[in-house]
Amino acid sequence: MRLRNKPWAEDFIKTHSTIALPDPESYKGNWKSVFNNDNPLHIEVGTGKGQFITGMAMANPHINYIGIELYGSVLVSAIENVLEAGTPANLKLLNVDGSKLKEFFEKGDVDRVYLNFSDPWPKTRHAKRRLTHANFLRLYEDVLVDQGEIHFKTDNRGLFEFSLVSMSQYGMMLKDVSLDLHAEMPEDNIMTEYEEKFSAKGQPIYRLEAQYKA
Ligand code: SAM
Repeated sequence: MRLRNKPWAEDFIKTHSTIALPDPESYKGNWKSVFNNDNPLHIEVGTGKGQFITGMAMANPHINYIGIELYGSVLVSAIENVLEAGTPANLKLLNVDGSKLKEFFEKGDVDRVYLNFSDPWPKTRHAKRRLTHANFLRLYEDVLVDQGEIHFKTDNRGLFEFSLVSMSQYGMMLKDVSLDLHAEMPEDNIMTEYEEKFSAKGQPIYRLEAQYKA
């Protein structure tokens, strides 16, 4: 993701505090109060400009969604996407670091984690930064319901291979693996910005669903 410095991003985020929640710690264990319902909660770590999470929220009004993005300058575009979509009530954004999930969620708060086109960190010495490294899998497990799931898409073959090994060594059950998602093109697939970009160049999109064991 190319970052453009947007000095006004912080103010923009503050003025949209009903979409990008300013104090996520205060909802830990109590996210139902944010959405005023008991519906499942799905989160996306590294939501980027928010095309996927906004599309999912519009397509699935009985699921609550939270998009998590580290950079304020990127989250601005996600907020704009949410506004354009008419501000779905089942969607919130957080401008926080996904490695700190436990500050915002307690065990069982989250029903599913989405990871889409996560930064590949190709150098071996950076393996721990990959969002499918065992340390992150432990983190997601600590906030997910029992037998919760991770749904992961990427164009990056190296990261995909690493993730398959990482998840199976962690003891997760791989439920669905595709080496060319767009050849199958399931009707309910919502494309991310990166997915549109890479698939337009003819690159295969890899996808998996993995579930934590009981
Ligand atoms: N998911 C989007 C897509 O598929 O189009 C964006 C993909 S982009 C390559 C990865 C995004 O993850 C970037 O916006 C980056 O800022 C964000 N990101 C990386 N590490 C993160 C972290 N620890 N917490 C939250 N967001 C993170």
